[in-house]
Amino acid sequence: MTSKKLNIKDIRNDFPILSRKINGKQLIYFDNAATTQKPNIVVDGLSYFYKNENANIHRGIYTLSEHATDEYEYSRLKIKEFLNAKSVNEIIFTKGTTDGINLLAEGMCRGGMLNEGDEIIITAMEHHANIVPWQLICNGKIKLKVIPITKEGELVIEEYNKLFSAKTKLVAVTHTSNALGTINPVKKIISIAHEKDIHVLVDGAQAVAHQKIDVQNMDCDFFVFSGHKLFGPTGIGILYGKEELLNKLPPYQGGGDMIDKVTFEKSTFADLPNKFEAGTPNIAGAIGLGVAVRYLKMFDFNEIRKYETELLEYATDKMKKINGVEIIGNAENKAAVISFAVKGIHPYDIGTLMNTKGIALRTGHHCSQPLMNRLNLPNGTARISFSFYNTKEEIDLFIESLIKIMEMLS
Ligand code: PMP
Repeated sequence: MTSKKLNIKDIRNDFPILSRKINGKQLIYFDNAATTQKPNIVVDGLSYFYKNENANIHRGIYTLSEHATDEYEYSRLKIKEFLNAKSVNEIIFTKGTTDGINLLAEGMCRGGMLNEGDEIIITAMEHHANIVPWQLICNGKIKLKVIPITKEGELVIEEYNKLFSAKTKLVAVTHTSNALGTINPVKKIISIAHEKDIHVLVDGAQAVAHQKIDVQNMDCDFFVFSGHKLFGPTGIGILYGKEELLNKLPPYQGGGDMIDKVTFEKSTFADLPNKFEAGTPNIAGAIGLGVAVRYLKMFDFNEIRKYETELLEYATDKMKKINGVEIIGNAENKAAVISFAVKGIHPYDIGTLMNTKGIALRTGHHCSQPLMNRLNLPNGTARISFSFYNTKEEIDLFIESLIKIMEMLS
């Protein structure tokens, strides 16, 4: 149960929920692409904050408020280091990935960086969060051009090159697909776009917990992720943006904390990062995310990636041997996410029966309806997705259950 440097047994002990029983069976949590479980240190951190430090931030001159403000800003610093951003001004607290993309879409449209008739290049494997926000802005007149994928689930880069036109204003791509597991060649995608002076947004929701992210090395212009997929709380996330670009964007929402001066005639706005953080933010969530990032720092991302790849390969090999199981998404560079279809069985039935065995997995379109349509999978797929607390023993039990379910339903 132990990889070279990761002690999986110890890691599992950090996550109290993993010892739960579901339907009388030991929980096997294979839905980490939807959300990750929380280590004690994060749960305790939230509880400690509410028990000992709770106050509103940035406003009070009393001890509690000063402590809360320090903790909130310390989290921002830790996240800046985690992403290797240049400055804390580039780290904006949001509600999550979806919120970050909406902030950017709305800002680009209101700031005149995107206008009716402009084009954005996305991929065929985008989550709805990186499709719908672009359809809501500029009177619905932004055109999305889509990089196609091969049958293995990899982007066709030659086609990407052909999608640029004089109207292209942004490339917005997922780093890692939640539905296929494909890890996209984001550095290459970014350098191609930059040659044409086009900015790039990377949706890092499925990447941050599984490999080292270095925004300067990647050279993305914007990067978004959700805290809850990184062992942190729900309702908190990050928009990273290069400082000069964030400075050009107008505020997303108006209210307290984001202003410089307000009169009844007009208002001026605070500097970064406060300009984008109107109102009382999710203070505890931001602090919890900072704790999660500090927790992850105890591990080596190379080791995490190596171990999760071991799990991926172990499960893939076993699943490929089962007649009637088809793995959807076979990219060479793949995260520990396995989408699969079983001949003659609805994914929903697999999910329901797996639940009776204590196994949590996801079924459906995975918020990627256009992808499922392209793949001709109207019912979607069943999906298992691993984290570094999962084990080969759990995979064995899953495989055993899958075979039993297939026998039962055939
Ligand atoms: N993008 C990707 C690739 C995702 O996997 C998800 C979550 N499934 C999102 C965006 C949206 O994240 P959230 O719901 O936390 O905003």
